[in-house]
Amino acid sequence: MAEHRERDFRVAIVGGGICGLVCAIGLTRAGIKVDIFEAASKYGEIGAGIALGPNAINVLRELGVLESVVAHSGQRGLEVRSFEFRIGAGDCKSVYSYPASSDDLSLPIHRADLLEALAEFIALEDAVTHFNKRCVDITPFLGSSSRSTIHFADGSSHITDVVLGADGVKSAVRQFVIGDDTSANPLSFTNTTAYRGLVETAVLHRVGVPTNMTARPVCWMGQGKHIITFPIKGGRVLNVVAFISGVDLLPGAPSVLPERDWVVRSSLQEMLDDYAEFGEHPRNILKSLNQPSKWYIHGLYPQLNTYVKGPIALLGDAAHGMLPHLGAGAGQGIEDGYLLSRLLGHPETNKGNIEVVLRAYDQVRVPRANGVSRGSKFAGEVYDGLGPSGPSTEGRRADLDLVFDAAWHHDMEADVRMSVDWLTDQRVFGRA
Ligand SMILES: Cc1cc2nc3c(=O)[nH]c(=O)nc-3n(C[C@H](O)[C@H](O)[C@H](O)COP(=O)(O)OP(=O)(O)OC[C@H]3O[C@@H](n4cnc5c(N)ncnc54)[C@H](O)[C@@H]3O)c2cc1C
Repeated sequence: MAEHRERDFRVAIVGGGICGLVCAIGLTRAGIKVDIFEAASKYGEIGAGIALGPNAINVLRELGVLESVVAHSGQRGLEVRSFEFRIGAGDCKSVYSYPASSDDLSLPIHRADLLEALAEFIALEDAVTHFNKRCVDITPFLGSSSRSTIHFADGSSHITDVVLGADGVKSAVRQFVIGDDTSANPLSFTNTTAYRGLVETAVLHRVGVPTNMTARPVCWMGQGKHIITFPIKGGRVLNVVAFISGVDLLPGAPSVLPERDWVVRSSLQEMLDDYAEFGEHPRNILKSLNQPSKWYIHGLYPQLNTYVKGPIALLGDAAHGMLPHLGAGAGQGIEDGYLLSRLLGHPETNKGNIEVVLRAYDQVRVPRANGVSRGSKFAGEVYDGLGPSGPSTEGRRADLDLVFDAAWHHDMEADVRMSVDWLTDQRVFGRA
């Protein structure tokens, strides 16, 4: 590990999910002492796959963790994997293949494998994880010291210089960024539900699903619904997410679903009824799912216009929980964590200028992540036949063209430079 001069501030990260851990690794590499407060009793993730695009992969490479993450994934390596779009009904004809270039490297990985790989690095770094610590309150700016006190459900508390809220879409930290007005919390049900499950590809091949339909990511498009399938664990397992959108109520209008769990166990029949018009192969994939779960997808609509207040900043889903139609939410949180670690880790950042440094983070990340969130909503509309060019094959093809590009291709080093230049212009950092 590189030698760094002693820092005069400490950082507390609330939430030890993918984004919190990526940020913690970046910060510790920059010589910052980090405490992670995680509500659960150990690091853990749901049983589902996730796809990481080139933007997230570049960050993992920069942090020196990519090799280990790939090893945990069970994949032979990174691959250029172009998405294929098929009509879900009838004979499921292929209408569009994403024109992936050689730098469109992606990594499909089981979430638990990704978290495990990151947690192994945390164990080696100068970061302390405190489990069973659910943040319930924050007292900012205690006394004149400008330090914040984080309060936990077990009655304990922790005093720190910087609080980073990586506590997911239901974030407790968010309230302290958006202020006292609880009605200002934009957490909403997106009117989208998703059945999720995993199935061995060998099982699918036995029931006649062709290998070319399980070997690459496929979006099976319907009207007001679509199914995403992609292989993980070196092609042994297919990750399946089947979406239904409430087309009459788009994100932004409704509030959190009252009195209903966000994730429920579903019956196979309920799921199959929802895709009755789909063709043989996607229905065979759905039929093979063992105990699908049904998710009521929530997100931040309307979007936050700031992720920062004083020495408190949000990252990941806490800042921009979004519809998952570009498979980009974690990627955006990984970008957040990286920029935070580069700015807080800058040699000229100190206790006295932390708040301005976090403002620099805010200025870059709000337009970027909120833009990807809008792109994700747009992509879902296109998959569901509700894009601006309509549900015809030609219309969908036109709208699908390069839909992933803005999310996948992003120059993080340019973001770092832009932030540092701004801090220099503000005379917070000196000229090199
Ligand atoms: C169906 C679906 C498919 C998706 N597919 C993709 C994909 O392919 N690619 C992609 O990039 N993204 C995808 N996403 C988005 C991705 O899952 C999220 O963006 C990502 O998991 C967010 O990570 P996070 O670390 O911000 O939050 P989380 O993963 O929610 O982690 C938050 C952590 O904070 C802890 N916590 C919560 N509250 C507290 C508290 N009060 N105090 C302390 N700790 C707390 C939790 O226990 C948890 O460990 C998908 C999402 C969905 C719903």
